[in-house]
Amino acid sequence: MSIQIKTQLPGPKAQEMVALARQYEPGCVSEQVPLVWQRAQGVWIDDVDGNRFLDFCSGVLVTNIGHCHPKYVAAVREQAGELYNCYDFVHPWRARLAEKLVRITAPHLDQAFILTTGAETVEASLKIARRARPGFEFLAFDGAFHGRTFGAMSVGGNQGVKRGCGPLLPGVIHAPFCYCYRCAYGKTYPDCKLHCLEQLDWIVKTRSTGAFCALITESYQGAAGSIVPPPGYMEGLFQWAKDKNLVFILDEVQSSFGRTGKMFAYEHWNIAPDLVCLGKGLGSGVACSAVVASSEVMSVLGPGEMSSTNGGNPLACRAACAAIDIIEEENLAANAALIGDKMMAAFNEMAPKLEILGDVRGMGLAIGLEIVRDKKSKEPAPDLAKRLIHECYQRGLAMMAPIGLFGSVLRIAPPLVITEDEAMTGVSIIHDALKAVSTP
Ligand code: PMP
Repeated sequence: MSIQIKTQLPGPKAQEMVALARQYEPGCVSEQVPLVWQRAQGVWIDDVDGNRFLDFCSGVLVTNIGHCHPKYVAAVREQAGELYNCYDFVHPWRARLAEKLVRITAPHLDQAFILTTGAETVEASLKIARRARPGFEFLAFDGAFHGRTFGAMSVGGNQGVKRGCGPLLPGVIHAPFCYCYRCAYGKTYPDCKLHCLEQLDWIVKTRSTGAFCALITESYQGAAGSIVPPPGYMEGLFQWAKDKNLVFILDEVQSSFGRTGKMFAYEHWNIAPDLVCLGKGLGSGVACSAVVASSEVMSVLGPGEMSSTNGGNPLACRAACAAIDIIEEENLAANAALIGDKMMAAFNEMAPKLEILGDVRGMGLAIGLEIVRDKKSKEPAPDLAKRLIHECYQRGLAMMAPIGLFGSVLRIAPPLVITEDEAMTGVSIIHDALKAVSTP
């Protein structure tokens, strides 16, 4: 398949649908280019006007197995004629999914609680952590994104989603994350010797009432701008939390199921998180999420203390089982590592010649390009980032709206089934767009 643009963009049907959405849907969702998705297969999206785009979004890092994978579609179709909801009664696919999740995660993680959204897994983890330890305080990170419900917003470290919503959950203490391109302490890795970790004791000493129960962090920060921890950071953070007997909650809603080049991002580091939040790629389209933990931590809640109407429903569990099988059978984590490295190499090669491409970072097929006014000032350029997304759209490449603390980061996250040729087609479109936007 290839990119095919047959109409002016947006086409007439797309314009009509965007107008309809603007009239009847609230304006609280993120603003995207006017690409109106009709159907998609693998890495290719057909819009309502019959134009074909290459997908660098995967929904929003969801469809790791590619759109409408035949095995996945067959499983969902079969389940659609069988059973949709049976509440907390046991059913085979929920039990099988829990078993699969335990099998593919680290040995100490021996129970899986299945839910629907990523934010729910964060809420559940916060609740479990408070029960598991006598304290109530959480250490969380500047820039973090954990979801839009109140607990998740509280531990989140981006003011955008919380604006005007206070007071939020008390007892959340935020620390700077390892955003090396814009180090909060003005240091440079590796000369810094991970100064940001050393500062954690000071932050606790000056801000905590001595009642910590848990630390929550993303594996790499997604919404803050694809911020990848430097070598040694995660191990140091984990050890610091363990020394203080904190529950270590790793939010892998975005970074799991092959996205970073391993099934789970924690496999890149020598750490053993107590609670792992999973979502997005787990269902690969049908909404499904899960908290995977050790029974020692999970057992703090008794019967009826945590459950959800739609959590673990048969359709979601069957879809998730199919998605996991496909990720394993097709070695999609390895493909993400291989293609991700090639894409990073291509971006790193073009970066010195492009004044506005400030930083290239990523893990597997979760790549961020930070757009700046110029390399010396590093001034964030959200306007240019937005223009770049539109340039890509006009050339047939679907990209999500810019993200990051300053709205200046392009995120590149194709389905993990992408081939090298397809990936390089997208990279060269981004290169063209970068050149087009660079010329005044
Ligand atoms: N945690 C992380 C790291 C996420 O990226 C997201 C979603 N972008 C969430 C939690 C929230 O997931 P959901 O939108 O499914 O509630």
